[in-house]
Amino acid sequence: MSTAPDNEGDDDPFEEQRADVDNAMVQLFDEYGRDHSFQAVVAVLASVFARVLDLAPPVLLGLAIDSVIQGNKAFLPFLPQSVVPSSKPDRLLFMGGLIAGSFLLGAAFHWIRNWGFNSFSQHIQHRVRTDTYDKMQRLNMDFFATKQTGEMMSILSNDVNRLERFLNDGLNSAFRLSVMVLAIGVYLFVVNWQLAVLTMLPVPIIALFTYRFVNAIQPKYADVRSSVGHLNSRLENNLGGIQVIKTSNTERYESDRVDDVSQGYFDANWGAITIRIKFFPALRIISGVGFVLTFVIGGIWVATGPPMFFSGTLDPGEFVTFILLSQQFIWPMAQFGQIINMYQRARASSERIFGLMNEPSRIEENPDADELVVDDGGVVYDDVRFGYDDDDAIVEHIDFQVDGGDTLALVGPTGAGKSTVLKLLLRMYDVDAGAVRVDGQDISGVTLPSLRRHVGYVSQDTFLFYGTVEENITYGTFDADREAVVDAAKAAEAHEFIQNLPDGYDTEVGERGVKLSGGQRQRIDIARAILKDPEILVLDEATSDVDTETEMLIQRSLDRLTEDRTTFSIAHRLSTIKDADQIVVLEDGEIVERGTHADLLGDEGLYANLWGVQAGEIDELPDEFIERAAKRQATVDDQDDD
Ligand code: ADP
Repeated sequence: MSTAPDNEGDDDPFEEQRADVDNAMVQLFDEYGRDHSFQAVVAVLASVFARVLDLAPPVLLGLAIDSVIQGNKAFLPFLPQSVVPSSKPDRLLFMGGLIAGSFLLGAAFHWIRNWGFNSFSQHIQHRVRTDTYDKMQRLNMDFFATKQTGEMMSILSNDVNRLERFLNDGLNSAFRLSVMVLAIGVYLFVVNWQLAVLTMLPVPIIALFTYRFVNAIQPKYADVRSSVGHLNSRLENNLGGIQVIKTSNTERYESDRVDDVSQGYFDANWGAITIRIKFFPALRIISGVGFVLTFVIGGIWVATGPPMFFSGTLDPGEFVTFILLSQQFIWPMAQFGQIINMYQRARASSERIFGLMNEPSRIEENPDADELVVDDGGVVYDDVRFGYDDDDAIVEHIDFQVDGGDTLALVGPTGAGKSTVLKLLLRMYDVDAGAVRVDGQDISGVTLPSLRRHVGYVSQDTFLFYGTVEENITYGTFDADREAVVDAAKAAEAHEFIQNLPDGYDTEVGERGVKLSGGQRQRIDIARAILKDPEILVLDEATSDVDTETEMLIQRSLDRLTEDRTTFSIAHRLSTIKDADQIVVLEDGEIVERGTHADLLGDEGLYANLWGVQAGEIDELPDEFIERAAKRQATVDDQDDD
């Protein structure tokens, strides 16, 4: 059968890895099930006992009828006759006691069974979730492009939950039903094999029918899942862009688009529903035929002796047991179809989970890597080459040396490779050739935690976690006390506005808390970096998108932050980096100019022209520069369209 009910989607980032997962369910039980096998064994055993006890009342009822009413049979053949009372009323009471006992004991076993299965599935689910999350944190940054974030959220929530559903309900039901079918089948055959054959005639038909049903419904469920994905993306997108929708006056257009995707979801669902609602009535008909056959033939048998080619005797009690048990027998067969369905969904989910787990990390930590030891924080880029894809170099021949405490600014048009160069220092990626050294140590040979402890990062795109202002400032340092936090905030020019927040440093911020402006968030980020106190600092376009006054405040706090630290800075506003010890100008991934602000202005190259643009001297720029800028913009736009 196909195993693809949940794998649809052309842009599946883990497709390749998933193809390598041999049998995801075997792997799941092997890696995660072993440690919890005690619970599983207890659950299976309890399931067997619970089911057998469930069957006791109808069996006892049949025996009671034959023994008490007809009085012609050895009563309870499996008990020593000495414990069985001889008078009919006593026998009835005794029987009542046995039935009550079987209910009680059955309840206890049901409890144990549920405890076992739930404990088994919850433990596995918890460990799979945390392992998947840990793995996700180690994935390359490429994976966090928007499209794939949704995919990963879906693995972490939907797929892990679907595993739970199978491990809990599916496994539980599978054992329960197997025991039941086996026990009832054996019992019926022992009591009267001829009638048992008749009763079981519909079983193969039901099995075949269920199998076909599952095959037919699965692609429909896949359609439902993908259409719900489209619907959610559309809604999410429209909520995010509500301002554009209102200002562009496109409410009606968007309503139509939502109508379209919602209709798609409706159609997909309806396709599944039309198949699903036929299943149970059809099953009822098949099992009804079996029931009527057993009832008619059995009834004639009891009343007038064996009909047609049947032979032997059938007592009324046996007949009642047959009727009762055959009803319990048919429905489990129907449920097997659903269990197979659950199994396949769980298997698809496990494949997605292991697909993610098997994704190789580009940053492999050397097992005997040393701790980075930073003395004065000098950084050297030694003929570095790097490309996101293996063949295409994005940056090449990157060579420079920054002494401890100095500032190097990277300048160049968008897409020149500035951020890429600095990501290599943070080891978001490893270089393809050459080396990056900190105080003489090649960073590819040191542990990631030690590197990231010494290299701080402040970006333009500041993210605040859900929590208080203080928690956000101490994020990564954790053990700092309030005094240190306030000092850091003061140095970051953030103390004033934090004090004015409703609860000061204890104000909740982040998505559900107080909304802070971009400039305020950035100063919190700077306070975080001041507190962390790294020897080396990376500032990524740290002062774009804010008003002049805020920029001045941020600049003051940055000056304090970068004092005495080796600093790498990318800034679009050249005025903020004109005092840098070195300015390196990048174009198309290569260094085209380097020097101090004064040197570069004198050279009258790319830097001088960029400076001219920012000083408003557009008329004085050479035509060649403007043509190249237009060409560059065109390629950047193309890339954005991809
Ligand atoms: P800058 O910081 O100078 O604007 P970047 O370093 O961000 O430039 O980008 C340099 C080039 O690398 C661009 O062509 C960009 O499209 C490409 N690039 C950036 N990030 C990725 C990525 N994660 N995967 C593939 N290409 C990327």
